Amino acid sequence: MIATLSAVAGGAALLGASARWNWWRPPTAGLPVLMYHKVGDCPKGSQLAKLWVSPRDFRRQLDYLKRHGYTPLLFSELGRRPMPEHPVLITFDDGYANNFEVAFPILQELKMKANIFLVYETVDQHNVWHDPASEPWQRMLTWNQVERMQASGLVEFGSHTMRHPNLARIALDQVRWELFESKKRLEAKLGRPMLGFAYPYGAGAFVPAVRQLARDAGYAYDFSIKQGISPWPWDPASGALKRLLIRGDDFMLDFHLNMTRGRARL
Ligand SMILES: [Zn+2]
Repeated sequence: MIATLSAVAGGAALLGASARWNWWRPPTAGLPVLMYHKVGDCPKGSQLAKLWVSPRDFRRQLDYLKRHGYTPLLFSELGRRPMPEHPVLITFDDGYANNFEVAFPILQELKMKANIFLVYETVDQHNVWHDPASEPWQRMLTWNQVERMQASGLVEFGSHTMRHPNLARIALDQVRWELFESKKRLEAKLGRPMLGFAYPYGAGAFVPAVRQLARDAGYAYDFSIKQGISPWPWDPASGALKRLLIRGDDFMLDFHLNMTRGRARL
């Protein structure tokens, strides 16, 4: 009787899960690219809570990658042959100070690599593109922190524009400046090529004229916020790379489904 009851309860739980999670999708091969923003405790009054991942969850997610044999890569390692059997890219958008203060020590401890997209003019400043009414302003990375992470060999940087505009809503000559100028300045500052670019808000990733400028600027890899896993090897003509948004309220089941199915919740 007890066995029957628990089987029924299990069936009901599965039905509940199937209505919410994508466990039934077939596994997806390719290059999973994790998209993080902030690692730390969400400030009071934030309306962007889902973009804050707790240090505890971040560590558990990295542990998952380790246990399942994933190799986190830097942008500059993407073109290498042979690729590891299970490659993954860990990326952070915007360049918050908590990436150094909270995430970096965990990366160092577990010896795992990550990539951070910087907004050039906000380094040493605040996330001035946000309305502070939706979230108190955050400190961004300092150049000193950027240089220390680069020197560790565990973190590589890419561009997230000069000022974090919506590239689908500004004139193309401004788009060009955001893309070319940030690449030039970051390369001068960091002394290495900027291979990766992430579109702020994901905007413009699928606007042909904007994406063409990103290609013209010379970024080898451009990253959208479209949910999913792009096939690898990747054909740039097929569109900007997809990513997996890691949310602060994710369970490990969400993380597992993101990694294997390219999508967690419906
Ligand atoms: Zn951003």
